[in-house]
Amino acid sequence: MQRKKPRMPVVFFGHGSPMNTLDRNPYTESWRRLGNSVPKPRAILCVSAHWYTEGTAVTAMDKPKTIHDFYGFPQALFDVQYPAPGDPHLASRVRELLEPVDVRLDESWGLDHGTWSVLKHAYPGAEIPVVQLSIDGTQPPLFHYEAGKRLAPLRDEGVLVAGSGNVVHNLRLMKRAGGAPFDWAVRFNERIRQALSSRDHRVLVDFEKLGEDARLSVPTPEHYLPLLYIAALQGDDEPMSLVVDGYDLGSVGMLTAVAGMPAD
Ligand code: ZN
Repeated sequence: MQRKKPRMPVVFFGHGSPMNTLDRNPYTESWRRLGNSVPKPRAILCVSAHWYTEGTAVTAMDKPKTIHDFYGFPQALFDVQYPAPGDPHLASRVRELLEPVDVRLDESWGLDHGTWSVLKHAYPGAEIPVVQLSIDGTQPPLFHYEAGKRLAPLRDEGVLVAGSGNVVHNLRLMKRAGGAPFDWAVRFNERIRQALSSRDHRVLVDFEKLGEDARLSVPTPEHYLPLLYIAALQGDDEPMSLVVDGYDLGSVGMLTAVAGMPAD
């Protein structure tokens, strides 16, 4: 008899600066520990803030290239490669699961830094196949939550579904010299944390109702929306556990959370 695969957890990574790829800090160390404690996935499906598209797409190539989708960073960051294989079968499976949403099988994107800045720490060997799912920027928050729900069978197929973004992400107001987080950032992050721990998905989907704090913390939605895919995949009996939290540059929230870790 074949042993049933363990149900894979789901993870939201708060990725922050691309420099986290090269740094060693409490965030990167927590991602490393997480990678070591999650049952080894067959493949990883990552919803990255940095693939924000019109319509939904999934990377379908055998060998996704490492994309350096930023500027003004040291050469060492442009030299980073994350040569994980792709998984065209998983891409087709995602396409099938998301029906009736029309998902484009993409051959031109690859892995952007939303994905590799965290996977470099969680899975430094780059041996696990990685597929990216884009975020359709023309759709409202509820669309993304419902899309997340449809991906649930992947958890029983050995696939680690990850979202990579930031709960609070306002680069326009960031304090380049560092410093204490803004009050609105802390209030919004705390409210979202509370909603995650009480499984109040309605608050997460309707985050815009949190008013000025939401407007400042989520000036554009691409870094927030990956969280909705992960919340949607949280099982009824699975608490969302905080892996790490904090603030960078006053206006970037570094919350990372996981649901569905096997009991130890
Ligand atoms: Zn980012």
